[in-house]
Amino acid sequence: MEPLQDHTIAFSGLKDGEHAFRFILEQPFFDASGEEEWEGGNVTVDVTLDKSASLLVANMHATGTVTLRCDRCNAPLHFPLNGKQRQIFSLSGEEQMDDDELVSLDAREHSINLTHYIYECLRLALPIRHVHAPGQCDPEVEKVLSKLIVEHEPTPDPRWEVLKELKHEGPKPKR
Ligand SMILES: [Zn+2]
Repeated sequence: MEPLQDHTIAFSGLKDGEHAFRFILEQPFFDASGEEEWEGGNVTVDVTLDKSASLLVANMHATGTVTLRCDRCNAPLHFPLNGKQRQIFSLSGEEQMDDDELVSLDAREHSINLTHYIYECLRLALPIRHVHAPGQCDPEVEKVLSKLIVEHEPTPDPRWEVLKELKHEGPKPKR
């Protein structure tokens, strides 16, 4: 799915050396991402593009917040994002073994679309499991959850009881 914003850099007219670009990711980007867990956000992506005769090196730095759903209470969670990623494009026009970091561009290309790489940068910066900080979950859900836990407390196994008692005693004070 193509996002509504354009993250294309026309590099053919650029001189060799470093060039800075900034992209602002807002709601349309997250809506178009196809990632169900991304509900929205506001992220600034700073790209430093280092151009040489045969390579383009794009260093991306994404900062801001992404709105996710808490895995525990399902309420919105504003996750502070700080992600960095490097992507290298070969301009030699020769077919090279592409790997995750090096992509060969066709000799006729004069621009690169970074959308895909920006997605990757964000995806890698977000944790697989995302939950609110302790005490920050939806209090209503918290109430229901604690009730459920109490109701489903299994009949204690005597062996666990012994362990629990040990735990409650805590560490012995050092003398
Ligand atoms: Zn939560």
